[in-house]
Amino acid sequence: MDADIHSEGSEHLDKFKDECGVFGIYGHPEASNLTYLGLYALQHRGQESAGIATADGTMIRMSRAMGHVSDAFDERALEQLPGHIAIGHTRYSTAGESRLQNAQPILIDCAHGQIAVGHNGNLVNARELRDQLVRDGSIFQTSSDTEVILHLYARSRESSVEDALIESISQVSGAYSFVLLTKDRLIAARDPHGFRPLALGRLGDAYIVCSETCALDLIGATYMRDVEPGELLVISDGGLRSLKPFPPAPQAHCVFEHVYFARPDSYVFGKSVNEVRTNLGRVLAREQRVDADVVVPIPDSGVCAAMGYADEANIPLRMGLIRNHYVGRTFIQPQSSIRHFGVKVKLNPVRSILDGKRVILVDDSLVRGTTSRKIVRMVRAAGASEVHVRISCPPTISPCFYGVDTPRRSELMAATHTLDEIRTYLDCDSVAYLSLEGLMKAVGDGSGNYCSSCYTGQYPIAFPRDEHAYLQLALKLDKHAVTN
Ligand code: SF4
Repeated sequence: MDADIHSEGSEHLDKFKDECGVFGIYGHPEASNLTYLGLYALQHRGQESAGIATADGTMIRMSRAMGHVSDAFDERALEQLPGHIAIGHTRYSTAGESRLQNAQPILIDCAHGQIAVGHNGNLVNARELRDQLVRDGSIFQTSSDTEVILHLYARSRESSVEDALIESISQVSGAYSFVLLTKDRLIAARDPHGFRPLALGRLGDAYIVCSETCALDLIGATYMRDVEPGELLVISDGGLRSLKPFPPAPQAHCVFEHVYFARPDSYVFGKSVNEVRTNLGRVLAREQRVDADVVVPIPDSGVCAAMGYADEANIPLRMGLIRNHYVGRTFIQPQSSIRHFGVKVKLNPVRSILDGKRVILVDDSLVRGTTSRKIVRMVRAAGASEVHVRISCPPTISPCFYGVDTPRRSELMAATHTLDEIRTYLDCDSVAYLSLEGLMKAVGDGSGNYCSSCYTGQYPIAFPRDEHAYLQLALKLDKHAVTN
């Protein structure tokens, strides 16, 4: 992921990539404008493409483009999207290539009428369903897993929109928070495990569903509750109806939403991300204390945990690394001979804070370790006498199949190296992670309601064993790992 720093994708350093953000609104004359703002607040969840579909009771219109929300839409584009109902999507591709055809929402016209869908998550049986549908004559427009839902829906013999949707959604397994739009309805659905978040809010008479509550805050809406795992919400002229058509399943909320993905000002799974993330730092300090002069977060991802760590350890927190917020998506490296150039573009050490100090560097995760190594060296070069790395989650040892883009298992540093080897590679004086028990304690989960597969390798939903039949599996797992 280091290579990204010099070219595209410099938004994140060595991190799991984000997933997708979804937004839906029913009952507002400015539905497209509010969806634009909602997507703007959810931009951190996906930066590859953005799309909005609106409905006015008679038909659906849609606009999609590659790039950030602010690049994808202008006033004129939003004027072309009239209607009091809208859904929006901001995408990072976890399954399917990055191209406009794969941008969402995806809109079709079928026997049940027009329908558009936006999806956050990943369907683990999409490949098998798609192969079967193709054998039965379906012609796919995209390489995205989400499209299978629309094909299943189009083929359904159920007479009502809701029954056809329930029948099609019942056939998919995996992670999904869907927003769906018909000419006169907004429908939201969340998988029975509740992998991905989905919040329900209110703005006057309008209803809103969105991935994170920060989208509600921006448009001045009030958070009502989460869409429950396994719940299907239908919002129409008749108001809001809640259906529970899918069999219940053990809860498996993605704990990484709290560790890294979600914005700290959001509530996800009913909890403040900021509070949980600060707690992660507190528990980490209790578990992995070390004597030092300053606690320095790796911005922005490590800030909340570093605050908790510093507070608990009673060591001053200092912003010893300054982030340049204006690094664009494309960047031409003018001179490759400058040391740690890629990281320096993004982060710069503050010598007056680091010089002669024993430093605890706090970050939320360590994926490949390549960027962290450069940061450690940069901090040493700025005069630090000791550098101790503290990570506010357990070692990441396994890929994700539920809608988060992760590297291959062989590229995950903690899957292939001992703690001592990691310390040597990072060139730091010590490195330590939060324990799995500590993570669950910090999240406040005593009953196993969270997915932690990327830390344990134990998956709550079985995925197809034939890796060649499953696009993402084939991309992510080594042959060795698949046969195990
Ligand atoms: S495997 Fe990790 S990233 Fe994926 S859903 Fe589970 S906790 Fe989240």
